[in-house]
Amino acid sequence: MDAVYQRCIHPACGGTHALDDTSFVCPRCGGLMDVAYDWERLPRPRSLRDFEAKWAGRSNPLHFSGVWRFRELLPFAEPDKVLTIGEGQTILQRADAVATYAGMQPGNLFLQYEGLNPSGSFKDNGMTAAFTHARIIGARRAACASTGNTSASLAVFCSATGLMRAIVFIGSGKISYGKLAQALDHGALTVQIAGDFDDAMQRVQQVARKLGIYLVNSINPFRLEGQKSIMLRVLEALRWEAPDWIVVPGGNLGNVSAFGKAFGELAVLGLLPRLPRLAVINAAGANTFYQLYEKQGLRWNGGSPDQTLIARYVAGLSSDKVRAATIASAIEINHPVNLPKALRALERCGGVVREASDQEILDAKAKVGTGGLGCEPASAASVAGARKLCKEGVIAPGERVVCILTGHQLKDPTATVAYHSTDQKTFDDVLGHRGVRRATFANRAVQVPNELDEIIKAIEVYS
Ligand SMILES: *Cc1c(COP(=O)(O)O)cnc(C)c1O
Ligand SMILES: [Zn+2]
Repeated sequence: MDAVYQRCIHPACGGTHALDDTSFVCPRCGGLMDVAYDWERLPRPRSLRDFEAKWAGRSNPLHFSGVWRFRELLPFAEPDKVLTIGEGQTILQRADAVATYAGMQPGNLFLQYEGLNPSGSFKDNGMTAAFTHARIIGARRAACASTGNTSASLAVFCSATGLMRAIVFIGSGKISYGKLAQALDHGALTVQIAGDFDDAMQRVQQVARKLGIYLVNSINPFRLEGQKSIMLRVLEALRWEAPDWIVVPGGNLGNVSAFGKAFGELAVLGLLPRLPRLAVINAAGANTFYQLYEKQGLRWNGGSPDQTLIARYVAGLSSDKVRAATIASAIEINHPVNLPKALRALERCGGVVREASDQEILDAKAKVGTGGLGCEPASAASVAGARKLCKEGVIAPGERVVCILTGHQLKDPTATVAYHSTDQKTFDDVLGHRGVRRATFANRAVQVPNELDEIIKAIEVYS
C-alpha cells in the first residue's frame, strides 16, 4: 500500500483506491472515501507552532496560501503539482457586539471570515486541493452541481489557471445573482437544470461518470483535505489553543466532515491535546441532518449508521414531495452527500445539530453586519445557532466560540436589501413567503427632499 491512498470511511468494509482514482465511491460498498495517510511513512510536523516559520517565506506561493502553508497535514501532492491562487488569506475576528447578541460575554465569540477568499467563500480552500488532484491525474474538464459558491470557485480556478474547462450545474431560479455572475463572468459552461440543487447533484454525478469529467463537489475527498485548513487557521489565530465550540452552517455537510477529520488527525498525531466541540446549524427549511441526528437519534455507531432509518426518512421526503426551501440558498439542501462523514465528525467531537428559521438567520445576519465583517444569509445560520445553544445552556457561560462565516456579504445583496427595505412589496416578494415577518434590525434608508435644510434636519434627527 502507498503512504497516501483513498480508503472507505466504514472501518468494517476496508475498500481502498489508489491516489489517482476519481470515482470517489468505495469499490466494495459504494460508500464515501477518505484521503488516508500512513503517517509513519510521511514527514510529521513536530508541533503546530512550526507552521509559523513559514510566515517569513510569503514570496513562495505555497507558503502564502492559507491552505498549502499546512501542506504536511494534507501531504497528497508534490509541491510542484500544487495549484494555488492565493486562497485562505482569511481572518478570525473578535466580535463583541455579536457576542452580546448571542448571549455571550465580550471576548468569547470569534467570527472566522471565509468571505475573504478569492471567489468570496470558503469553497476555495477545498477547490485548490481538488484542482491539484485533478492536475495530478491530468483532467481537462471539471464539473460541479452548485447552489452557487462551488460553481463560482470552480469558475475562478479555471479562469485563473487556464488548465481546465469549468462545467457547472445549477438548479433553476435558486441561485443568487452575485454567484451566477461569477460563473458567467469567468467563462464557465453553465447548465441550468429544471429542478433544484438535489436534482442537479444527482445529474452531475451521472454526467461526470459517463463523460469522464472530474467532479469537484464535496463528495470528492480531496476537497475536504483543503477545507481542513480552515480549522488550522482558527487554531493558529488562537495561538494553537482549541476553542470550546466551532459552529458551522450545514448544507452538504462537507465542512463539518473536514473539520472532524482535521481534529481526528491532529489527535492521532499528538498535536492537539483538547478538541473543540462541533455544532452544525441547518436552515429550518432544509433540516434533514437536524431531524435525523436530534429527533431520530441517528449516530455514527462505529461506522454502521442505521441505513433503514435514513432510507425511511429519504422516502418520506420524496413521498411528501418535500423540497428544501430557505433564504439561505447555500444550505438549501435536503440530501446531504456527506451525511455519514458528518456523523463521524460529531461522534469524534461531541457534536450537536440545531436548526434556525429564516427569520432568525436574517436577524443574526443583520447583527453580524453591524458588529462584524458581514456575510451572506447561510453564513449567519452559525450565529443564529450559537445564540440558540447559549439560550439552551448547551454553550456554557464563559466558553469560547468560533462561528464560521462561510461566504461574503456581497454574494446575495437581494436578501440584504429586501430586509432593510422601506418598501413592503420588495420585502414581501423576497422574504414574506418564507415566513419572515419583520426586519427586526432594519437599517432603513431615510427619504428626504433634495433641499439642504431638510437634509441637515434629517441628519441631526437620526444621528
Ligand atoms: C457551500 C456553503 C455552505 C454549506 O457547506 P457544506 O460544507 O456543504 O455543509 C454554507 N455556506 C456557504 C456560504 C456555502 O457556500
Ligand atoms: Zn466501503
